[in-house]
Amino acid sequence: MRPFRYQRARDAGDAVGSAASLVRAGLSAVEAPTQFLAGGTTLIDLMKLDVMHPGKLIDIKPIARRHSEIEFKNGTLRLGGLVRMSDAADHPMLKREFPVIAQSLEYAASPQLRHMATLAGNVLQRTRCHYFRDVSWKSCNKRKPGSGCAAMDGVNRRHAVLGVSEHCIAAYPGDFAQALIALDAVVEILGASGAMMIPFAQLHREPGTAPDIETRLAPGALITAFMIPAGPWTRRSLYLKIRDRESFDFALASAAVALQIEDGAVVAARIALGGVATVPWRAHDAEAVLIGRPLDRNQAYEAARVAFAPANPRAGNRYKVELGKRTLARALLAAAALEI
Ligand code: SF4
Repeated sequence: MRPFRYQRARDAGDAVGSAASLVRAGLSAVEAPTQFLAGGTTLIDLMKLDVMHPGKLIDIKPIARRHSEIEFKNGTLRLGGLVRMSDAADHPMLKREFPVIAQSLEYAASPQLRHMATLAGNVLQRTRCHYFRDVSWKSCNKRKPGSGCAAMDGVNRRHAVLGVSEHCIAAYPGDFAQALIALDAVVEILGASGAMMIPFAQLHREPGTAPDIETRLAPGALITAFMIPAGPWTRRSLYLKIRDRESFDFALASAAVALQIEDGAVVAARIALGGVATVPWRAHDAEAVLIGRPLDRNQAYEAARVAFAPANPRAGNRYKVELGKRTLARALLAAAALEI
């Protein structure tokens, strides 16, 4: 690991101000020479691997108490950016009112990591593409723009089939983000120019021609909270995750679903897919298939077919199209059968 400077933040304004003074224009957030350190479960790994090499870390754990609230008021859930994953996963109110959120966190990572990692850090975690994480591979557009993509014709069993480009097919690795995008969450951000809110759906960027720029977060900006509106669909929600190893692993395919069913017909449907896309993936076209009809097996598989219609698989991950469809159909049928 390369040497770096270390600073403890006094408050969120101090953290953002210190980071902003060192940020150069034109950098993506992950390239910034100053990074925030919370759980450190992604950042420290990538520093040890020499994938990320910030010159300075600003430790935001000292401000965690002020940004670790879990609050449900006036129909909106507010989760502080520094809530630990395990605290949200085990929260009784979340399990009852927003099961898809609690489950997406419960099935993510190992218990040890969930005790360390924060919600804001979790949504910003970086891909597990082995060509990205192993610097002995020279071709990785995400790590070294313009160098090519070793995964394109290499080992790509775990890579994405949706939202891919000819420059990068790395899968977004998280789970919580799928629950957030399905429920139309909003992100609260503190940056050099003050506080702002953006829809969570606008946070992540598909790789396109610039896979190294993963989010719309400005360098030195801090995610301080997530706001999630409750709806008639939030209780009838769940997260289904398919992985090689049940104890802990990244998703090969996952589905976050939420349904409102009245008089036997679907009134509202929210669907997000994980493990199969380059970003947290909302499947609006699949949702439309379900509206106004009873949710039976045929409808569930038709929605799944529509969800994966734009899939663009490579040789090693072709199986993900069928696996993803079955995962989504199973999740929809399970959500429809929930006794609320
Ligand atoms: Fe790099 Fe993306 Fe290609 Fe992986 S898939 S090698 S992260 S450019």
